[in-house]
Amino acid sequence: MPSSDRITVRRGAEHALYEGAEILRILEAGLVAHVAAQTKDGPLVLPMAYGVHENFMYLHGALANALLKSSTDSEICATVTIVDGLVLAKTAFNHSMNYRSVVIRGSGRVVTDRHEQMVALRAITDHVAPLWDTTRELTENEIRATRVVALPLTEMSAKIRSGGATNDPEDADIPFWSGHVPITSRFGDPIQNSDALGEMPAVVARLSGLDAYNRQET
Ligand SMILES: Cc1cc2nc3c(=O)[nH]c(=O)nc-3n(C[C@H](O)[C@H](O)[C@H](O)COP(=O)(O)OP(=O)(O)OC[C@H]3O[C@@H](n4cnc5c(N)ncnc54)[C@H](O)[C@@H]3O)c2cc1C
Repeated sequence: MPSSDRITVRRGAEHALYEGAEILRILEAGLVAHVAAQTKDGPLVLPMAYGVHENFMYLHGALANALLKSSTDSEICATVTIVDGLVLAKTAFNHSMNYRSVVIRGSGRVVTDRHEQMVALRAITDHVAPLWDTTRELTENEIRATRVVALPLTEMSAKIRSGGATNDPEDADIPFWSGHVPITSRFGDPIQNSDALGEMPAVVARLSGLDAYNRQET
């Protein structure tokens, strides 16, 4: 069940889901959130890395970041989208995409508690690649230069579409091709920096060849 009227999917409601565990799976698979806020210059949407811990999506950026500044105690919206394929119909009107997407709406809260800041920064880092424990600790200056914002995972919706095109029954006999083309993003082989020292972490070596949005062999 949707937790509010404004996150109730109306168009394409057959693709909607609201169950927390299923939404978390999409958030786990995604890499980038597009975060929208009303700034003093007007509406702004920026792509951002994110992490999830307990009941929050965490975002971070420089103290001067206009979007994160504006998200303090005001309404923001974060969307995570994974495009899984092109859906090609017999008519342009019925073209679509296969996807997994999540929309989260709510009030941004600037995180000031040091413990929560560190939990959030670890969650964001480890979401990209679980390297928090194999990188140098953050300095006091780095922590002070970073704003962390928490967005509650309470008002959220997801849509998932998969499979082929939905052509209109009256177009059954028209002589045009229709189908779908899967899209997969794979990690390549890691390329070492010239100043790299020590062993490549096993979690990095393991990425090679994996589907970037499922992090597993397919
Ligand atoms: C990769 C991709 C490409 C798309 N391209 C287009 C396009 O070109 N044109 C177009 O009209 N639509 C497109 N969509 C669908 C679009 O995201 C909306 O679902 C659709 O436009 C309906 O919007 P609405 O405001 O009328 O929906 P409503 O159903 O009225 O939206 C109400 C609530 O449903 C939830 N919701 C809506 N859409 C999504 C979503 N995608 N994921 C999770 N929750 C959602 C939100 O909480 C929203 O507040 C695309 C979706 C994806 C993932």
